[in-house]
Amino acid sequence: MFVRERCDLCGECLIRCPYVDYDREEAVSQFRSLIEGGVPKIVTECVTCVACNRFCPTQANPFDLILQRQEESGALNIPEQNTQLFRNMPNAPSQVIPGDGGKPALSLCCVGDLLPGLFEGPLFEGMTVLKGGDFFCNVGWVHLGAATPVREGARRFADNLARHGGKEIVLYHDDCYALAASMLEEFGVEPAFRPVHIIEFLLRQVKEAWGSVEPLGLKVAYQQPCASRYTPWKDEWLDELLGLLGVERVHREYDREGALCCGSPLMPRDRERAQRVKQRNVDDAVRHGAQAMVYLCPLCALNLRKTAAEAGLENLHLIELVKRALYR
Ligand code: SF4
Ligand code: SF4
Repeated sequence: MFVRERCDLCGECLIRCPYVDYDREEAVSQFRSLIEGGVPKIVTECVTCVACNRFCPTQANPFDLILQRQEESGALNIPEQNTQLFRNMPNAPSQVIPGDGGKPALSLCCVGDLLPGLFEGPLFEGMTVLKGGDFFCNVGWVHLGAATPVREGARRFADNLARHGGKEIVLYHDDCYALAASMLEEFGVEPAFRPVHIIEFLLRQVKEAWGSVEPLGLKVAYQQPCASRYTPWKDEWLDELLGLLGVERVHREYDREGALCCGSPLMPRDRERAQRVKQRNVDDAVRHGAQAMVYLCPLCALNLRKTAAEAGLENLHLIELVKRALYR
């Protein structure tokens, strides 16, 4: 939620936005208009990456105000077929595949089948798997300029996971972890389980199997999902995990606070702009010596992999990286 009392109209949030080129005067003017209830051009120029919530020096959550204006005005003009897809998602077929009870459950939301074969093999053996519409987190609505469905679906999400998943649930989808570990508290919903991020789980597995790890000696560019801005503490886990795998996360302009969106949120609105963003991202990875793009979100992987491959980069999901170090 935007916290008006914390905002001193410094303009920093919009000066640092990687998708517009505002000077301080313009940034302050745009933000003042937002506060006064207007719909300035940042409302439509925003790609919903959430980065300005991290840029704001006083934690006023400027993106939450932009999102509110996007929802009130409908200024993003998202095509009906895209909103319909999201409306239908909670009704997608669901499945609970029982495990052996000795391990935490694994929730795949509605994105578990996007990268085939990812969950095959010993890493996930014995886990109860939850997948489909019952476990859909709705956080993707943010990219359609809507906050209400996320809030309204929060309790259902938390209750369904708790009912089927037990005390500790590993969340594959970064959006799900953002909801469970950060947003639920704001919505006044207390989850009856401990959310475990997939990175935390992988780190645990790698430490347990430490004797079998073969360092990969690979330089990679990490594609941080936008939703990671809601749960930035897990970046430390990622750095530790990559270190254990013998993987160098190249220092580049578009990682960590400066990470660029994968282009997916822009696809329904402006495909050419989306492609320009993808190209900037991949060029940055190549310029900084990466040999591969490494993904956490399967949608990022699907959106960026062609552009990355054309630039000579290998495409790897983080789980594939772990499997390669443990089982090759
Ligand atoms: S939201 Fe934060 S960064 Fe933006 S103008 Fe207000 S105080 Fe400055
Ligand atoms: S959410 Fe991202 S694109 Fe939108 S204003 Fe903030 S930094 Fe810019």
